[in-house]
Amino acid sequence: MRLENKVALVTGASRGIGATVALRLAQEGADVIVNYVGEENFADARQVQESINALGRRAVLAEGNVADFNSAAEMVEQGVRAFGRIDILVNNAGINRDNLLLRMKEEEWDSVLAVDLKGVFNTTKAVTKYMMKNRYGRIISVSSVVGVAGNAGQANYAAAKAGVIGFTKSVAKELASRNITANAVAPGFIRTSMTDKLGDSAVEGALKMIPLGRMGEPEDIAKAVVFLASEDADYITGQILHVDGGMLM
Ligand code: NAP
Repeated sequence: MRLENKVALVTGASRGIGATVALRLAQEGADVIVNYVGEENFADARQVQESINALGRRAVLAEGNVADFNSAAEMVEQGVRAFGRIDILVNNAGINRDNLLLRMKEEEWDSVLAVDLKGVFNTTKAVTKYMMKNRYGRIISVSSVVGVAGNAGQANYAAAKAGVIGFTKSVAKELASRNITANAVAPGFIRTSMTDKLGDSAVEGALKMIPLGRMGEPEDIAKAVVFLASEDADYITGQILHVDGGMLM
C-alpha cells in the first residue's frame, strides 16, 4: 500500500472519475474526505463512503460547492476537523456546458469557469495552509486534453482546463520549498456521465483519434492520480500527465 497514514480530499467524489479516485486512494491505504454538492447527491456520496469503510479505511462526507469561496473553505474545515490534516488534494470536480462560441451564453461561460477553474483556486487555497504547516502536500488537479489542444464547441471548458495547467505550474513553483508538489492529470476521452451524453457519431469520431483504440475508464485516471500522490512521484512537480490513450502526443 502506497498511501498508508495519508489523508486525501477528493472534490466531486460522489460519482464518475472522482468516486473511482476516492476508492483507489483508499485501496492504497488513505483515509478520504469525500466531497459532494447538494442533497440530491448525498446517497451516492454515502455509497462511496461505505465502500471506503468496507476497505477498512475511514471516510467522511463533506458537502460543499467548490465554485463558492466560503463553501469550499467550509468543506476543507469539515475534513480537517475529522482527520486533523490533509496530505493529498484531488481537484476533480468539473462540469461542461458545450456550445459554439457564437451561441455560447454568458451563463455557460461563467458557470464552467466558476467550477472548473475558480473551484480549483478556492479549494487549493483553503487546503494549502494546512499543507504548509505540515510541510507536506500532494496537489493533483484534473485538467483535460482539451485544455492543451482546444476543441470546437468547448471554448469555456478549454479555457478553464488550460487555466488549471497555468495554476498548477505556478503553485508548484510557489510551494516546492515546503515539500508540496502540484501536478495535473489531463484525461482524454473517459467513459463517465460527462461523455455518456455524446451521440454515437461523436464517440466514433473520438475513437478514431485514440491510437490505443478505446475510450479510457475512470480507473485509468485513478491509477495516474495514485502515482502522483505516492512517494514514487516525490521528485515530480509542475507536470501535466496525459492519460488519453495517445490522443495528444
Ligand atoms: P461527472 O461524472 O460529471 O462527475 C463530476 C463530479 O463533479 C460530480 O460528482 C459532480 O457533482 C461534481 N461537481 C460538479 N460541480 C461541482 C461543484 N460546484 N462542487 C463540487 N462538486 C461538483 O464527470 P467526470 O467525467 O467524472 O469528470 C471528472 C473530472 O474529469 C472533471 O473535472 C472533468 O472536467 C474531467 N475530465 C473528464 C473527462 C471525460 O472524458 N469524462 C475528460 C477530461 C477531463 P454532481 O453529481 O452534482 O454533478
